[in-house]
Amino acid sequence: MTDVATAVVRARAALRAALASAPRPVGLIPTMGWLHDGHRALMQRARAENATTVVSIFVNPRQFGDPKDLARYPRNEARDVAIAEAEGIDLVFAPGVEEIYPPGSDTTVRVGAVVAILFDLIGAERAYFGQKDAQQVLVVRQMARDLAIPTEVIACPTIREPDGLAMSSRNVHLSPEERAAAPVLRQALLTAREAWADGERSGDVLRERMRAQIAGEPVAVVDYVSVADAVTLRELDRVDGSALLSLAVRFGTTRLIDNEALG
Ligand code: AMP
Repeated sequence: MTDVATAVVRARAALRAALASAPRPVGLIPTMGWLHDGHRALMQRARAENATTVVSIFVNPRQFGDPKDLARYPRNEARDVAIAEAEGIDLVFAPGVEEIYPPGSDTTVRVGAVVAILFDLIGAERAYFGQKDAQQVLVVRQMARDLAIPTEVIACPTIREPDGLAMSSRNVHLSPEERAAAPVLRQALLTAREAWADGERSGDVLRERMRAQIAGEPVAVVDYVSVADAVTLRELDRVDGSALLSLAVRFGTTRLIDNEALG
């Protein structure tokens, strides 16, 4: 669209109205806000490939098991809008919870529910996701296929801090000690990748390599380590073709994830 200020809309009707005459194609970047350079990379890619770009900011309460985790999720809409504006984004969709889940809403989509609503509301030709959430990319692709939503799902590389830690809105919660230990996620993935490159094909051995590396950091507690089929996400006994290494690690109350594709 043109070089005017980023518009912020909150209601479904306002969103549809704003997009009715928007130049196509439209590129969507779904986020939970507290935007960082990882999000910026998605915005830049979307800007390069689309005539109109939309960033959605919605912290989905149903995605949080622990209400305390939801309550402390970092938020600053003014800062997010300023970042979107600096990246030349046309529209920010920042709905309240009742706009996404209206009273009496009664249809459940098992996977990618909020993204399904965003895809339908925005009707984007393309939507951009980070490889950091590789499982989410697979789930959203599947959902779009199952529901015949024509939005193309595009995965973009994970943006990292210089020490390898994947950028995440959650990193702000890390204490200095936890922050110093957090690159162990990346190191564990690279250790397993090296073993794989040296010919190791046992899923158990690769998982154990990751666990052992994380055990070297006392403040890091493994939530899961996974060596899974890159398409079905089933755990693998043996890595014969491609695979997805992934892990989730807790530092105090902060849970971080990362992953690495093999093959
Ligand atoms: P979030 O706001 O954390 O839900 O992330 C919104 C989108 O940005 C998701 O598609 C994420 O995968 C993506 N994203 C988050 N962190 C990064 C990163 N470090 N590099 C690339 N994409 C990211």
